[in-house]
Amino acid sequence: MPLSVDAAFHDAFQRFQTASIDTARLDARLLLGAVLGGGAERVLAESGRDLSAVEASIFEGFVKRRAGLEPISQILGVREFWSLSFKVTSATLTPRPDTETLIEAALARVKEQPKRILDLGTGSGCIVLSLLSEWKTTRGLGVDISDDALNVALHNAQKLGFDDRAEFKIADWRDGNWQHGRFDVVVSNPPYIPEADMQDLDADVRVFEPRTALVGGADGLDAYREIIAQLPQMLTPKGLVLFEVGIGQADDVEALLLSAGFRGLEQYPDLSGIARVVAGLYF
Ligand code: GLN
Repeated sequence: MPLSVDAAFHDAFQRFQTASIDTARLDARLLLGAVLGGGAERVLAESGRDLSAVEASIFEGFVKRRAGLEPISQILGVREFWSLSFKVTSATLTPRPDTETLIEAALARVKEQPKRILDLGTGSGCIVLSLLSEWKTTRGLGVDISDDALNVALHNAQKLGFDDRAEFKIADWRDGNWQHGRFDVVVSNPPYIPEADMQDLDADVRVFEPRTALVGGADGLDAYREIIAQLPQMLTPKGLVLFEVGIGQADDVEALLLSAGFRGLEQYPDLSGIARVVAGLYF
């Protein structure tokens, strides 16, 4: 028997509620909208018709995955960030709206287009590529310890048409052997969740997102300490660093930067008023 768009929506909504997904209604709309070839709005627009057999089977696959708590971004394989579309996989942290604060802070703080920028732990490449979309002559390097993530970042650079100005390389800031030159601006959204807090994260983050992109040691600040120790090798004189930080970490990261000789420190709030980005100049 053919399945109507309406019936498919209600079935998915109920299965997501049973799976205790808070966003059951929105998720059902997003997934069904994608099957219908658009966004969530397609569900209402096409509510009068039946799904084809192919659509019904694709939708059933999506619903099973979401009911198993896989994130929508990984099921659809894409996520919007800074109004650009990024491919995401289980190897990359899903770009989050909070991280747009980092882009805004960089644009507010940097007056002239930098020559070269560096993104540490680039993941999908969303930070460096969004900055290249604003700074049309800047060149960017994204590094990561995950080859799989770098492949996704490169794909995103090619798709967005920035592969002539963006490079991606495997590098580990912990090995203390920086060989990629100096940059005018360094940006990073490093792993910052304290080890003990991992168990409190929603399953879709805890189970499906890459652990190396999330956990920042016992107090969540390990990556900042490691990176700040390397910044003198990475930054040009008066170079700027901008970090995304977790809730309640801004003052700690600012103190780490201050004791490493950084000046002109500034914090930037996200849309909920939480200090989300810390910036400082290297002298
Ligand atoms: N903002 C992410 C979260 O709370 C964490 C990202 C990170 O550790 N850099 O899920």
